[in-house]
Amino acid sequence: MQEYKHSVSLDVKKCRGCTTCLKRCPTEAIRIRDNHAQINSKRCIDCGECIKVCPHKAKKAVHDSLDSLADFQIRVALPAPAFYGQFDNIDNIDVIIEGLYRLGFDYVFEVAGAAEMVSAYTRMYLERKDVKRPVISSACPVITRMINMNFPYLKDHVMPILPPIEVAASVARERMEAEYPDLDPDQIGIFFISPCTAKVSYVKNGFAGKQNNIDRILSMRDVYFKINDIIEKIDEPEHTAASGMIGIGWASTGGESSAIFNDKYLAADGIENCIKVLEQIDNEDFTGLDFIELNACSGGCVGGAMTVANPYIAQARLQILKRYLPVSPNRPADTKIPEKYFVDESVSFDPGHLLSDDRNTALRMMSEIEAITAELPGLDCGSCGAPTCMAFAEDIVKNETSADECTVIMREMFHDYLVNHKETTLSDAYRDFMDRSGKTREKKSE
Ligand code: SF4
Ligand code: SF4
Repeated sequence: MQEYKHSVSLDVKKCRGCTTCLKRCPTEAIRIRDNHAQINSKRCIDCGECIKVCPHKAKKAVHDSLDSLADFQIRVALPAPAFYGQFDNIDNIDVIIEGLYRLGFDYVFEVAGAAEMVSAYTRMYLERKDVKRPVISSACPVITRMINMNFPYLKDHVMPILPPIEVAASVARERMEAEYPDLDPDQIGIFFISPCTAKVSYVKNGFAGKQNNIDRILSMRDVYFKINDIIEKIDEPEHTAASGMIGIGWASTGGESSAIFNDKYLAADGIENCIKVLEQIDNEDFTGLDFIELNACSGGCVGGAMTVANPYIAQARLQILKRYLPVSPNRPADTKIPEKYFVDESVSFDPGHLLSDDRNTALRMMSEIEAITAELPGLDCGSCGAPTCMAFAEDIVKNETSADECTVIMREMFHDYLVNHKETTLSDAYRDFMDRSGKTREKKSE
């Protein structure tokens, strides 16, 4: 299996090992070792939570720079719908699109327009009798990766239709290649303006093996700071915006669901809530629902780690922008979903947390983990560098750490040492004890 490319990186020099991110990572992918955070790439789902919570700005999103516009002769911008909610005091979308042109893009294709096409295809898909219900949206890459890793029985529920980002890129590339038949296709650069890290990973890894059409992925934050001053000087922009209420609605939770024109849906956001919903669908606790929309970020894409505005303020701004827009000007003429927008297999199971490929070994390790967990204090304090006592026990069983990293155990050991060395001073006792602990660790790693 091809190695998964991630979009969250750590600046070790800035990390203080404070454990804030450790406690918020939904997949227990983070450990604190050698006084700084480490990310287990097999477990990370690129949700960006650790970027949002790090008080020292040590976690960073990986994305392309605006300088990469120079890599192409024709530059096409694909702004995500959440982009429009970043700006204050804007009456219409035209001014933002004009700002993108002035920044150096030659064409702008709104992802909101492609979202309206995907909404129409979703309605067609839900009319089919042979689909597994509830159908789970494939738009949030964190959710599809989470299903991929932890919910194998739900993979057949994921809608096998490309998400709006990819439909927009494919329409943009087709049109550009038709408009510039003599131009080397490599000179056409498709730039997605992303609200989140997960979509960066989507672009790097593709969706269910499909090659995507996006060449560069820009941070919404970077583009916002570049064009905010530009758009303040635009008085009368040309009318170029082509998306409607439905497409813009995809930026926040409930927008995608409301476009299926069917009230048998559930829309949730926030990674913890989404995990609970997936667990309940897995347990068949939900019946009678046709569609599930899950957004890992609070508020939906407006809450992504590469946005600028508070997600709820962005949502309120989008409400105002939507007011005078048509409902859905980008409905496709197709009466059935074009084959090119289908994926053969929506997600493939890729468990990130297996203890061993061998079932017997995994069972033995599990029982060791349970036994060690029972001996640990159960405080889940994080000071050992693992998020919970059970995760710490798992690390011990995998030989990734040793029991004396637990501060409670260490305190008890030190207490016993002091009882047996009453004659030494406290500082000598401490030094001697630490030396001995170091020897103990060396012995374990032999
Ligand atoms: S939140 Fe995580 S990455 Fe940031 S300083 Fe603390 S341990 Fe390091
Ligand atoms: S991006 Fe999300 S899953 Fe990955 S380490 Fe950070 S919090 Fe954990």
